[in-house]
Amino acid sequence: MSITGIKGMNDILPGDIETWQYLEAQARKIFGAFGYREIRVPVVEKTELFCRSIGETTDIVEKEMYTFSDKGGTSMTLRPEGTAPVMRSFIQHKLYAQDPVSKLYYIGPMFRHERPQKGRYRQFHQIGAEVIGIDDPKIDAQVLAMLSHYFESVAIPDVSLQINSLGCPECRPGYRQALSDFLETRQDLLCADCQRRYTTNPLRALDCKVPGCKEATSEAPDMLAHLCSGCDDHFSQVKAYLDNLEVVYTVNPRMVRGLDYYTKTTFEMVTNSLGSQNAVAAGGRYDGLISDLGGPALPGIGFAMGLERLALMLGEEELVPPRPELFIATLGIAATKAGFNLLTRLQRQGILAEMEYTGKSLKAQLRRADKLNTRRVLILGEDELARGTAQLRYMDESHQEEVTLESIEARLLKEIHDA
Ligand code: ATP
Ligand code: MG
Repeated sequence: MSITGIKGMNDILPGDIETWQYLEAQARKIFGAFGYREIRVPVVEKTELFCRSIGETTDIVEKEMYTFSDKGGTSMTLRPEGTAPVMRSFIQHKLYAQDPVSKLYYIGPMFRHERPQKGRYRQFHQIGAEVIGIDDPKIDAQVLAMLSHYFESVAIPDVSLQINSLGCPECRPGYRQALSDFLETRQDLLCADCQRRYTTNPLRALDCKVPGCKEATSEAPDMLAHLCSGCDDHFSQVKAYLDNLEVVYTVNPRMVRGLDYYTKTTFEMVTNSLGSQNAVAAGGRYDGLISDLGGPALPGIGFAMGLERLALMLGEEELVPPRPELFIATLGIAATKAGFNLLTRLQRQGILAEMEYTGKSLKAQLRRADKLNTRRVLILGEDELARGTAQLRYMDESHQEEVTLESIEARLLKEIHDA
């Protein structure tokens, strides 16, 4: 029996990869214009990093991490998200010493042991961005403006931006208590998970996807009504800047995020087109995270978008493979050698060219040229080779002419340039 890949971990094949490359290239372009630079961190980190940052009572740490000990007995985890590793690296390399403000982005695979379904996998990919060193509400608005702009520029349909504020260490404990007290009165209506965690992490009940919990919490106290004046003012300013920048959003006071490190502004890009996998991008402010991880007391804000969900929303349509500019068909050993040299010369010039490598008949070579949907075919036989010429056939125009072998490179380069 042949070996198959691991459940929930997908191959991204030619035909699909073009969509991914497009989504990634647009992110690099747009994030670059907003002043972000790429950072690449390993896919494995010490387990402790995620426990300390994401939070012990979150879904990720409680049940979704791929954790193992390596041969030296160190507990390691395949990264379930990107913010904690990026902050670990930021602190370790003292990036703050070079510049008080860092704008970073990352692209890469993340791992969570979840039940695979459409838009939910065990290896998935995120594009994420982080701004460290600014707590001014302008930057919250700018991060959201960039995110919205990205979605518009790649033409992802039917998404909407929801925002909320989760308060800070000053006002969140009071809200947590109020929510926990409320949940206590509805305890018997909650799912087993929420019954267990309504004291340890009551905010999770607001985010629970079980219908009974949604109903039981429909009249839960409102986070926004519990914000301290600092957080309330910050949130008002974020909204005002968003209005100014004409970024469309709705306030969703029930939106909590599944990671403990968030403070103040939190947000999601949501869609109705992916079933219960309705968040395509999510993020928020994390003013305490860097100091919690042993770094300086610097504020931060960021988000991550799921590439699989973005690609699903762009549609099933396969992008057509690029058309070869030239297919070289040859007859005889000497012509094949000359053709192979020409092929490599063209490829070195950046021209997509193909030939048949295994000595097939002319008819079979032309069939392959057709299959590749090549724009031109060059037919090179022994007689032509002796004269230093070949027949160049333009497939779309059914037009053919004799050309010198010398002139082909320049001719193709000019035609490609003019096209
Ligand atoms: P969900 O509520 O759908 O589980 P999440 O809140 O766990 O999402 P985040 O941790 O905020 O997701 O990650 C940001 C984005 O990464 C999500 O909006 C989604 O697009 C993507 N993502 C998260 N988990 C997965 C997964 N298992 N498979 C594919 N994409 C995912
Ligand atoms: Mg999740």
